Amino acid sequence: MRKRIGIFLGLLLLAAAFLSGCGNTPGSGPSAAQQSASAADGSSSSMPEPGHLDLRMLNVGQGDAILIQTSEQTVLIDTSDVDEREKLRSELQKAGVRKIDKVILTHPHADHIGGMELLLKEFQVGEVYDNGILSTSKLYIGYRKALKTKGIPCHALKAGDVLDFGDHISFQVFAPSAEQVQKGSKKGYKHDPNNESVTGKLVFGTFSMMFTGDAETKEEESMLARYQKDLKASVLKAGHHGSKTSSSNVFLRAVQPEAVLISCGAGNDYGHPHKEAMKRFRALKLKIFETDKNGTIRITSDGQSYQIQPEEGGAQ
Ligand SMILES: [Zn+2]
Repeated sequence: MRKRIGIFLGLLLLAAAFLSGCGNTPGSGPSAAQQSASAADGSSSSMPEPGHLDLRMLNVGQGDAILIQTSEQTVLIDTSDVDEREKLRSELQKAGVRKIDKVILTHPHADHIGGMELLLKEFQVGEVYDNGILSTSKLYIGYRKALKTKGIPCHALKAGDVLDFGDHISFQVFAPSAEQVQKGSKKGYKHDPNNESVTGKLVFGTFSMMFTGDAETKEEESMLARYQKDLKASVLKAGHHGSKTSSSNVFLRAVQPEAVLISCGAGNDYGHPHKEAMKRFRALKLKIFETDKNGTIRITSDGQSYQIQPEEGGAQ
């Protein structure tokens, strides 16, 4: 009986998390009032001057956490893993961050949402965006419940959405598609979380950067089918920590980046980045930066030129 009650409570919790979390119904995006409120109260003392972008791929071990700061907003894409939280805390403190206006969670794997508990406990979080696809992961259910308790708005992102990061800097979402979100929200759907990652392009004047979460060839193909002409970007965040199952030649040719940034932990169990992907990057003569070798990788831009400044070493 106790077991039955446990299962019932578990299902109830899941349903509550789903119904109250990042909805994907029309109109669930941020309101103008929310956007201006989050921008108005300032995020930290370290924010750049107007007309400048400050972006850091944080050195947070085997996971992703990318800090984006404009003169108006602080945004974090992914939060790395639970056991990398000390690194996340120290990197955010080093950057002088106290408040994060927008947290974008690409997909519910632990190496992307594992730092949410820390963020919600120790930092002020304005709003959260995810892919709107239900997950049964404990971490996912946990953060959605915490968002509800704290009254933090949560929105689902899908292809075609555009987020405003302030100061004329925007984020154009390419995936997942509305159909994928709809399918993924149905009972019995066989999930492929990497290929349900929120992907998109930050645009600031002539500088742009493509963010891919853990998207693999399958999601790259669906982006190519719908957005081939929009994918070109100055810099690429390699999909799935430089895995050979991502960064296909056809995708790289569409993005045409000058540099590629890879987030991975030193000596990680997966062998990331894979030599096959590195070979493809080298064949296109891309400047390659890796967090395990270069530490935190910083990009600054004025909307025209940009500089990549690794904490250690140089491009490979
Ligand atoms: Zn990952």
